[in-house]
Amino acid sequence: MLSLKKSIFETTPEELSAWSTAKGLAKFRAAQLNQWIFTNKVYSTEEMSNIPKEVKQDLNSDFDWQFPEITSRLEANDGATKLLLKSEKGHLIESVILRYENRISLCVSSQVGCKMACSFCQTGKLGFFRNLSAAEIMAQFALAQSIVKPEGRFVTHVVFMGMGEPLDNYDNVIKSVNLMIDGYGLNPKNVTISTSGIVPKLLTLADDTKASLAVSLHAAREDLRTELMPINRKYPLSELKEALLHYQAKTGRRMTFEYILIKDKNTSLKEAKELIKFLHGFRAKVNLIPFNHHPGLEYDKPFEETIRTFQKYISDRSYPAPVRYSKGLEVSGACGQLAAKNMDSLEASPTRGAAYERPTPSL
Ligand code: SF4
Repeated sequence: MLSLKKSIFETTPEELSAWSTAKGLAKFRAAQLNQWIFTNKVYSTEEMSNIPKEVKQDLNSDFDWQFPEITSRLEANDGATKLLLKSEKGHLIESVILRYENRISLCVSSQVGCKMACSFCQTGKLGFFRNLSAAEIMAQFALAQSIVKPEGRFVTHVVFMGMGEPLDNYDNVIKSVNLMIDGYGLNPKNVTISTSGIVPKLLTLADDTKASLAVSLHAAREDLRTELMPINRKYPLSELKEALLHYQAKTGRRMTFEYILIKDKNTSLKEAKELIKFLHGFRAKVNLIPFNHHPGLEYDKPFEETIRTFQKYISDRSYPAPVRYSKGLEVSGACGQLAAKNMDSLEASPTRGAAYERPTPSL
């Protein structure tokens, strides 16, 4: 159901304060409201015990407080919760909550479908439907906060690794990450935009947000990367490298690259050498993500020995190269598998998901 009201989820502290002033409320009231929403992550006026009834009525009539409908919720034994959500226009999108001992990460979607057509990604096979609004992106964040809050915890990390290419929905993603950082106080290091490499956007990114960046590389040879990621035809590795060096010079940050290890595709010594050549000039870390076999895709996971050899080659050359095993495998919420169980029922289905931060097993 489309709402004409402004979503409370995309409202900034400044906007909430301005609303409060416009209503003629005392200054301390705005501070209370900000505390409820941005500190306590409370998204129901019912629970705001120190707010007068008439102010609650105004809040309810001026803002949309409706969470997206949860179409399905799957829990994995490893602490992942996969949520299939119905967006405002009826499309299905997906968020994954990943619980760790010391933090909770949320993997969000930024688009319904994706234009990039990466050959290892389920979403890539489905095509593009539309961009998500900032309100729809922030609704995933707010919903996840409301789910983990009864556990006495908050979402501390957000990764844009769900459905869609975040830099292809630039304005809404920038608005969302900046609200997470400036409004909700997340550490910019813990809010990560993961991109396939949209070069013109990479050139402005450092000016528009303090959020972190992860780049999906997956191959460091032009023809192989084009085969895996057709976007490489438009923005080849040479241009990508130049844009990323510019980004690194501006931010002073170490670059994070994602490299999915696909059996007999990009795991040979030749490809490892190409990767080292590409990394030259960067301060960088490479997350190695063994491909998760998926029935709809032709690729496979490499042997453990291959993973170990590839990792050693990269880390021996002073680039940290942790192997990331995906959480949420059990519920098909892992990298490249998010759509698996829903292909038949979804108008469009998610994708690559969350291959994040599981400790590297001893290889
Ligand atoms: S991997 Fe990312 S950029 Fe590539 S098709 Fe999938 S969602 Fe799009």
